[in-house]
Amino acid sequence: MGTRIIFDQFNETGKLPSPSLTVLKLMGMAREGVVTPEAFMDLMETDHETARDLREYTHLALLVPDRRGPQSLHLLATGLDIRIIVLLALGFSLLNRHREGKCRGFDYVKFWSVSLARAVAARAIAQMQNSFNPDELFICGLLAQMGSLALADIFPEEYDSLISTCTNEQEMLIREKELFGITHLELSAEILHGWGLQEKHSLVVRFHENPNPYNFPDQSSFEIARLLYLAFLLSKILFLEVPLLEKLNHAELLAEQYNISQSEFGPFFDKLSYHCHEWNQVLRFPPRPISSYNQIMAEEGLQAGQQPSHYDKRKIRILAVDDDPLTLIRLRKTLSGADKEILTACDGEDALRVALRDSPHMVITDWRMPKMDGLELCRILRRTSLTQHIYIVMLTNYKSDDDLVLAFETGVDDFITKPFTPKVLEARIHSGERLIRYQKTISHDREVIQRYAAQLTSANRQLETMAMTDPLTGLPNRRSAMNRLDAAAAETLRHGERLSCIMIDIDHFKTVNDTFGHESGDLVLKAIATTFHRKARIYDTVSRTGGEEFLVICARSDIFESQQLAERLRQAIADLRVDLGKGFVQVTISLGVATWRPEFTDSDALIRAADKAMYKAKSKGRNRVELADP
Ligand code: GH3
Ligand code: MG
Ligand code: MG
Repeated sequence: MGTRIIFDQFNETGKLPSPSLTVLKLMGMAREGVVTPEAFMDLMETDHETARDLREYTHLALLVPDRRGPQSLHLLATGLDIRIIVLLALGFSLLNRHREGKCRGFDYVKFWSVSLARAVAARAIAQMQNSFNPDELFICGLLAQMGSLALADIFPEEYDSLISTCTNEQEMLIREKELFGITHLELSAEILHGWGLQEKHSLVVRFHENPNPYNFPDQSSFEIARLLYLAFLLSKILFLEVPLLEKLNHAELLAEQYNISQSEFGPFFDKLSYHCHEWNQVLRFPPRPISSYNQIMAEEGLQAGQQPSHYDKRKIRILAVDDDPLTLIRLRKTLSGADKEILTACDGEDALRVALRDSPHMVITDWRMPKMDGLELCRILRRTSLTQHIYIVMLTNYKSDDDLVLAFETGVDDFITKPFTPKVLEARIHSGERLIRYQKTISHDREVIQRYAAQLTSANRQLETMAMTDPLTGLPNRRSAMNRLDAAAAETLRHGERLSCIMIDIDHFKTVNDTFGHESGDLVLKAIATTFHRKARIYDTVSRTGGEEFLVICARSDIFESQQLAERLRQAIADLRVDLGKGFVQVTISLGVATWRPEFTDSDALIRAADKAMYKAKSKGRNRVELADP
């Protein structure tokens, strides 16, 4: 089923997140392009809450330069882009109205804290990048996850159990799709679209958790989505979602593409952290840990206060470790070259810190050293995933064969005996380098393959949707309907959930085709499908199972509820006049309703019962609802 249709159904429940009436009015005026500063001020006179929010929060949201502190409304209305002010009013109004809700496992306050962090980060990156509108990105960041809030509000219990059982984002998306027919990302996009945000922005929001050029019509939308993805990642790091270091590494690499170099990243991150604190205070949210760069570094065993060195990705980084400064100097001198970057450490512990921070490709280490010797260093490097792949060369005085064997067993890749001659050292290092460059090519290839696989997955997903959808009406097709019915029947067998279905066939449809032509027949089918959709409830699945046959699966409904629905559908179609362009046509339908019986063992039995009831309706004169025999 199309996400737009599901959104429409959700919308009809009246449970979607929505702003105050004033803000809705303001948005309507903005759409018509009639918000003058005067009209804006007049409207604010009627709603002090909205006016107060805008006064208190706007300077923080837009970081209005040299106008720190609460703003006068008039200044806002005249000095800033009114379209942005309207969207901010929307965001603040939502925030005020949804600080709490019915879904127990959903942390509403955290939702807003993280959303604001994403907004703050998105605007900050846009500012560094200089080609996208930072204010617009603040709004996109703030509203990007509205779908989660909406699902939590519409399905409090189901969403609660999803939150407690899903262990990662991917799983969450899959389960959402299964349970609600729509993911929080799709829903966010629909909600934003419904509020009249630009098409580009709803697309960006839809794909920001996993942006792929394939999903976007142009490069610029893709870039914005990737920017939002970075903001999304940063918001998670700010609120300490594990694994931290992995996310941080990823974020640092991405940030470089937005003119935030590795040496600037720490200060940039801490500025975000500061703004998150500020928001939390202004909104009077209970205090919550927000990470700083140094704190993460310290927690991850890296040296606090030290940022990762800014290194050139084409160079090979070699870490030389020796407690003898003279050896270090000789090593540095022999190894230095345009294609290498040499790092040094004076003992095993020191080396471990540098290795974690700078991920060298090769370590050349002395054996005997104070604090931690070369063998122990090697053992530890081999144990963690971040450093496992490093090429390790041991530098030693002559050792017994047993010692050499022990070292190889610990994970050393090669040996050089002291005192070394530059020539031998170079030759040995060279052979190591060959291996490293080879590994680098492989990992580059792997990245390309992964990217390709991601595109393929998304193409497959589209194919799958196509295979499950009837192209004429956009409804789920027979295959999809049978899958759903099987799933529902399994639930019923396991937990005794109620389950009913309605089989529908259009009366004398052949006559429509014969009289008006096949194309007109198609128009009638579409109009009927749309009407069914409007009249069905959220829990019902309407599908087109054959040429002029439809099936409605009524989850959690007994025979009487389903009969009422069937009657509503029958009446709606009887009242429907389909405009064929060359005149109107009216048709009727026959419906058979069946409900699950204890003796049923599979969904076929239910379908057969409904089918039989439908034929009874036909034989009793059509345009009527019949129930299956009890
Ligand atoms: P009854 O009331 O007994 O169901 O009469 P009927 O004419 O509807 O039944 P019948 O099964 O004889 O005819 C079904 C017709 O539906 C025949 C076929 O041309 C038409 N039909 C099936 N699929 C499509 C379609 O996709 N588009 C159009 N325009 N017609 C279709
Ligand atoms: Mg038929
Ligand atoms: Mg028919």
